[in-house]
Amino acid sequence: MAMLDGRTAVVTGGAQGIGLAIARTLIDNGARVVIGDIDQAAVDKAVVELGGADAARGATCDVRRAADIEALLDLAQSDGAALDVMVNNAGITRDATMRRMSEDEFDAVIEVNLKGVWLGTRAAAARMREAGRGSIVNISSLSGKVGMAGQTNYSAAKAGVVGLTKAAAKELAHLGVRVNAVQPGLIRTPMTEAMPQKAWDQKMSEIPMGRPGEPHEVAGVVAFLACDWSSYLTGTVHEVTGGRFM
Ligand code: NAP
Repeated sequence: MAMLDGRTAVVTGGAQGIGLAIARTLIDNGARVVIGDIDQAAVDKAVVELGGADAARGATCDVRRAADIEALLDLAQSDGAALDVMVNNAGITRDATMRRMSEDEFDAVIEVNLKGVWLGTRAAAARMREAGRGSIVNISSLSGKVGMAGQTNYSAAKAGVVGLTKAAAKELAHLGVRVNAVQPGLIRTPMTEAMPQKAWDQKMSEIPMGRPGEPHEVAGVVAFLACDWSSYLTGTVHEVTGGRFM
C-alpha cells in the first residue's frame, strides 16, 4: 500500500515546475490530486501530463483570491472526500535592487507569495479541523532564510511564510492538523531558467553538492511531510538546497 493511498491533495501553482513535480510525486504515492494554477490552458496541459482525469483534476485558481481557493478545495471535495493535504506552492519573482524596485513589484510578490499562502493555509485549515486531521505544506525559499540581494520583496515574503507556518502550526496542532514549510535552493524550473547566466553561475558556486536541484527532489520532501511518516512533525522548515547556506 502506498503512503498516500486514499488521500486527497491540492497543489497551487501546480501546472509547471516544482508544483507539477509535487503533483506527480503525490499521485505516484497513491493520492488523488487537484491542481490549481492561474492559466487554464496550462492547467489542462498539466492534467494530461499527469495521466488525465483518472489521476488528476485541475481548475484555474489565482491564489490572491480567497474565492478561487475555496472553489479549488470544493472541487477536491466534490465526491465527499476529506481534504488531507494542501500544498501552497504558487509563487512569482519580480527581482530588482531596492533602488530600482517599484512599489507595484513589491506588492505583487507579497500578495502572491505571502498573502496567497495565508489564504491557502486558512482555507485548508478550516476544512481539516472539521476532519481532525490534515497536512499543510508551504513552499518558502532559501531567500527567506538568508535574504538575497535583488529580492527584498521575495525574501520578505518567503521569510513571512516561515513565520506564518509556525504560527499556524501552533494554532492547529491540538486539532490534528500539521503545518510545515520547505525552503528550496536553486532548483531547475521555468522560474530559474529565466535567470541571467551570471546570476545562475554565482548561485552554482555557492552549492556544496555542485549541482542545482531537480523539482522531484523538492517533491519528495513535500510527499514526506504530506504523509504519516512525518506524523510528529509540525512547524518545521526543511532546506532542500544541496547544502547551500547550511
Ligand atoms: P514556476 O515554474 O514559475 O511555477 C510557478 C507556477 O505558479 C506557475 O505555473 C505560475 O504561473 C503559477 N502562478 C503564478 N502566480 C500565481 C497565482 N497568483 N495563483 C496561482 N498560480 C500562480 O516556479 P517554480 O520554480 O516551480 O516555483 C514554485 C515555488 O517554489 C514558488 O513558490 C517559488 O517561489 C518556490 N521556489 C522556487 C525555487 C527555484 O529555484 N525554482 C527556489 C526556491 C523557492 P505563471 O507561469 O503563469 O506565472
